[in-house]
Amino acid sequence: MSYEVTATRRRPKNFLEMTGQEFVITTLQKSIEANRIAHAYLFSGPRGVGKTSTARILAKCLNCEKGPTVTPCGVCPSCVSIAAGSSIDVIEIDGASNTSVNDVRVIRDEVLFAPSSARYKIYIIDEVHMLSNSAFNALLKTIEEPPPYAIFIFATTELHKVPATIRSRCQQFPFRLLHLDEITANLEAAAQELKVNADRDALFWIAKEATGSMRDAYTLFDQVAAFSEGHITLKKIQEKLGLIGEDQISELLALVIGGGHQKVLELIDLILMKGVSVSQLVHDLTDFLRALLLYRSGIRRESLLGFSEERLNREEFTKLTQSQVEIALETMLTLGQRLRENVNLRAEFELTIVRLCNLPYYLGTEELFQKLTQFKEELAQLAVKKN
Ligand SMILES: [Zn+2]
Repeated sequence: MSYEVTATRRRPKNFLEMTGQEFVITTLQKSIEANRIAHAYLFSGPRGVGKTSTARILAKCLNCEKGPTVTPCGVCPSCVSIAAGSSIDVIEIDGASNTSVNDVRVIRDEVLFAPSSARYKIYIIDEVHMLSNSAFNALLKTIEEPPPYAIFIFATTELHKVPATIRSRCQQFPFRLLHLDEITANLEAAAQELKVNADRDALFWIAKEATGSMRDAYTLFDQVAAFSEGHITLKKIQEKLGLIGEDQISELLALVIGGGHQKVLELIDLILMKGVSVSQLVHDLTDFLRALLLYRSGIRRESLLGFSEERLNREEFTKLTQSQVEIALETMLTLGQRLRENVNLRAEFELTIVRLCNLPYYLGTEELFQKLTQFKEELAQLAVKKN
C-alpha cells in the first residue's frame, strides 16, 4: 500500500467522523432531514478545520443513491466517485487558480446542462474570496436564478473579502478553530492507527503548535513520527526540532524576575547553542507570558493555558504584579514584531531581556497613582507635625 499522509488518511468520510463543528453539522443535518436544501452554501473559517471535508460530505448526502440522507452509504457509485474526487456531477474548483471572469463564464454555461447521473450538480469552489470582481458579478447571476438541480458550496478563509451581494444569497456556516483537547484526541487515534507509541505531552505539544488547525496538526505529526522510530516523545521532538523545554522557559523568566543579568544571559546562550532560533525563543516566551496572564486571571484549563500548572505557579512569579506581567507580555509582542526587520536578532533579544530584568521595579498607572497618593498623605502628615 502506498504511503498516505495522515491528513488525507483521516479525512472525515461522514458527519459522525467530523470533529468540532457541531453547530454546522447539526444545522446541515436538520436541513437535509427536512428536505430544505439551499442552492448556495458559504463555509467560512480558518484553514484546516474541515470546510472542504464538510463540502464533500454534504455532496455525498445529497447525491447518494439512498439519499438525500444524513448518513450517505459510502458504497454506491455516487458516494465512491465523490470520495475519489472523480464524480462528474460534483465539480471541485480552486478559486485561487480560477479567478477570472472567463473561468466563471465556463461554470455559468456548464451549469445549464443537467447532472449526468446524480440528483444534483454540485460546484464546490474553494478559496472563493480570490475571485475577481467581474467573476463575482458573473457568478451572482447564476446563483440568483440557479437551475433546480444546481448547488454551490463556497469555502473561504477570508469571509470579509466575499462581496455582500454573494454572502446574502448563501446560507452561511461559520467554522471554528478546534480546541487543544479535540486535536490531541485525534492525534492519539492517529498514533494508534499507525501502531506508534506516543506520549501524551508530546501530542499535546503538537496540538498546541497547530493553533486550532487539524490539518496542520496532522502534518506536524507525520513529520515527528518520521524521526521518532516508533515512540513519539517530547524529548525527541525538542532535540530534533531544536526546541526549548517548558522547564527552561519557566526558568528563564524566573531568572529575569530575580534580576540576575549574568545568569539570564548564560541561560540564553545555553539554549541558543542547542540550535534553538531567537525567534522561536521569543515565540515561546510570549506564549508563556500569555499563559501566565491567563493563569493569574483564574484560568486553570490546561488546554487554554497551553502550559501545565506546575510551570506557572512557581513562587518567583507570585512576586510580579498584574501590570508587570502585562508589560512583560507587551514587551515580548513588540519584540516579536521588531525582529522581522532586524539583522542582529540575538543582540536585540538580549537587550530586551536585560531591560526586562528591571521588571520588578515597574509600576502600573494604578499602582503609581496609589503610591503618589500615599506619598502626598505622608507629606501632609509631616507638615502637620512640623507646625
Ligand atoms: Zn451512497
